[in-house]
Amino acid sequence: MTEEIAVIPGDGIGTEVTPAAVEVLEAVGEFEFVQAEAGDAVKDETGEALPEATYELAASADATLFGAAGETAADVIIPLREAVGSFVNVRPARAYPGVDALRPETDIVFLRENTEGVYAGHESRLSDDLSTLTRVVTSSASERLAEFACEFVEGDEYDEFTVAHKANVMRETDGRFRETVLGVADERGVEADEVLMDAFATHVCLDPEKFDVVVCPNLAGDVLSDLAAGLVGGLGLLPSANIGTENALFEPVHGTAPDIAGEGVANPTAAILSAAMLLDHLGYTEESARVDEAVTSVLEDGPRTADLGGEASTEDVTSAVIDRL
Ligand code: ATP
Ligand code: MG
Repeated sequence: MTEEIAVIPGDGIGTEVTPAAVEVLEAVGEFEFVQAEAGDAVKDETGEALPEATYELAASADATLFGAAGETAADVIIPLREAVGSFVNVRPARAYPGVDALRPETDIVFLRENTEGVYAGHESRLSDDLSTLTRVVTSSASERLAEFACEFVEGDEYDEFTVAHKANVMRETDGRFRETVLGVADERGVEADEVLMDAFATHVCLDPEKFDVVVCPNLAGDVLSDLAAGLVGGLGLLPSANIGTENALFEPVHGTAPDIAGEGVANPTAAILSAAMLLDHLGYTEESARVDEAVTSVLEDGPRTADLGGEASTEDVTSAVIDRL
């Protein structure tokens, strides 16, 4: 059976790097691609940033490849993550040989809780002087994340994970998160240690090799994985996966990059690596590894886009990756 892959390029360089990722997928397998619209452009046309049909498609497809959305990003990506039932955002931050990086030894995968924390809390303006925010942490969501983390490290070259939290201050919410995650690891016989998230921010800069897989609450995962992105040399390289109960959505970490959009010079690496994560998720482990190796090889000595100091176009890099598959 051919898997159905929803393709939602969105705006800006999303419309340039997403087709590049599709080309790579076409080179390694047989999939049925269904195109859909979301973002600023479709909002200008129809009044809706996320048309119902796009939401339904993401909810029913075997997997979704998403590019980026401009000003409407929050109206697009949050419901899309919900459409696929996503409970974890997987964000690898790996430095590649040949690419300038502050910390070339960095190789960390962040598993970020994707449904609650402060992002699911309610903000209120209580007076002219006072605004508040509630923070949501459930044992069930923490447990689901922990189960995923255990499977993730069991199925990989890693055999343990680190949970980052601030349970010494947020005793109730992060306390629940910490206790639940460590509890699940203990039950499953997976080794897990812990780190205070502020200390993590320092340690990861000084000695990134200390960490392999880091499990975080929502906001901390957002911030700390961006910090690690800075250590490995750039937004154009980082993929991500939103894994759901039913299906999953894959997207580059970067946005629409309006400063370079339309010129055909965007780095397609993050989108192509997102496609590699999609392949792995659908069970095409060998194909996923081939894409990863081809990308690594091109980054090492192949054509480069301007963000990496080269002069190549998006298409040059994409063709080079396909040639080396
Ligand atoms: P948005 O508003 O959609 O978040 P942004 O400009 O704030 O857009 P990014 O799109 O993440 O944020 O881009 C930040 C910077 O990194 C920009 O200067 C952009 O040109 C550069 N950049 C991001 N992604 C790429 C890429 N794939 N190739 C080359 N440069 C990139
Ligand atoms: Mg941005």
